[in-house]
Amino acid sequence: MPRVFAIESMPTSAAYVIGALEAAGFEAWMVGGWVRDTLLGKTSHDIDITTDARWEQTKRVLEEAGCEVCETGTELGTVTVVCEGESMEVTTYRVEGAYDDHRHPSEVRFVSDVKDELARRDLTVNAMAWNPARGLLDPFGGLRDLDRGCVRAVGDPWRRFDEDALRMLRAVRFSACLGFTVEQQTQRALAGRATGLMDVASERMGRELDALVRAGKAGTASLEQPEVMCAAIPELADARGFNQRSVYHVYDVYEHIAHVCNAVQAFTAGCAMPELQWAALLHDVAKPATYSEDVDGYGHFFDHPRQGALMADAIMRRFAIPSEVREAACALIRLHDERMPATEQAIRRMLKELSGSCKGREVPLGFALFDLRRADAVAKCPSAASWAHEMDQYSALLRAEVARSPVFEVGHLAVGGADVMRTCVLQPGPAVGLQLDVLLRVVMAGEVPNEREALLAWLAGHT
Ligand code: ATP
Ligand code: MG
Repeated sequence: MPRVFAIESMPTSAAYVIGALEAAGFEAWMVGGWVRDTLLGKTSHDIDITTDARWEQTKRVLEEAGCEVCETGTELGTVTVVCEGESMEVTTYRVEGAYDDHRHPSEVRFVSDVKDELARRDLTVNAMAWNPARGLLDPFGGLRDLDRGCVRAVGDPWRRFDEDALRMLRAVRFSACLGFTVEQQTQRALAGRATGLMDVASERMGRELDALVRAGKAGTASLEQPEVMCAAIPELADARGFNQRSVYHVYDVYEHIAHVCNAVQAFTAGCAMPELQWAALLHDVAKPATYSEDVDGYGHFFDHPRQGALMADAIMRRFAIPSEVREAACALIRLHDERMPATEQAIRRMLKELSGSCKGREVPLGFALFDLRRADAVAKCPSAASWAHEMDQYSALLRAEVARSPVFEVGHLAVGGADVMRTCVLQPGPAVGLQLDVLLRVVMAGEVPNEREALLAWLAGHT
């Protein structure tokens, strides 16, 4: 059956804003991601409106209509409008010059024809406008490309990618996220111009990469568009084609990383937390730098988890990834290859370690660590895949530990500093903390139950 692409309704707040601008004699359209996603039958998370009104006129008309208007990007013609609690961006039709410093367009010119406004947009599927009375405006064949499942640059891809190299990463993100193929000319330009990304401001790249990673499509993008991914994250370029010289690995480091990203998605039914997805993408990033070969010619990567966590920290800082995601991803990377017996003690040690860098999030991160290790195992070689099953045992141990309120911090102990001072006859000071640490160790090792009477008795017997 042919797919039907139609827009049947729109948010009432956006209809109100468009209605107010048009009643005042201006033209206004829904544009960009909202049009694309709505045609695809998806809910769109943000609303962009474009108009021939200058921002000052937009502000006046919409304030008179009772909306709140914030001057969020007036140099580019943008204001943010809040109507019925919904916030949306309203931007004047504009065209842009090249992004000279790779951050901001060198010049912005306001124009009166909406088609010129659409021509500055990156991809045909992102260059459609829709108005409730006039319907769809699609000068570049965006609808046909949506139907074919095709990502295509608006205009000459080489020129458009030279103007702003970030568009390449966007093309890769949209093709991976929508499951589209990249049109041939656009694909040639992607491979030919990928290195242009190295000059793009890192925060701009970070926003695209974060969206790609959170969508669970970093693996797909890495396998399908290695040039663009390696230009965006040069540390990955060293992993590309890097032979692991190991009987446990059928893939080179780069391919292994991509397969781990995909396996994480598979094991979490597409619901992996962003910290796990970032960890998957960067978990082996230090392998090339830590490589050594033994006398038999086998490859080893000693210390790569710790070095990898350091590199991942620098990479994610560069991309301005939120610190809570960065810190957790680095903790997972640090622990991804740690030897761990399947015991309660080992589970408690892991929780303690995770709590050290991400206090309060150790339990979900513990499960995420097992998903990472499962994914790591299945992306090695067929015989290593059985290690993935071991993780079921670890998850079961962690579940049991959670059910009995785990103890891996001094604060979890059934006694406190005052008990220690009283029982051990100590004055306040560092010795109290040291004593609590000792107590924590014996409880974590399962030598004493975490019960008040038992702990007081143990303390009394060990002073
Ligand atoms: P998402 O759902 O990820 O937000 P989106 O299409 O809304 O997708 P945005 O980054 O919010 O993406 O950008 C809004 C619109 O602005 C795009 O649909 C596209 O038309 C245009 N756009 C964004 N970045 C560029 C760019 N670098 N060059 C040209 N047009 C761009
Ligand atoms: Mg958007």
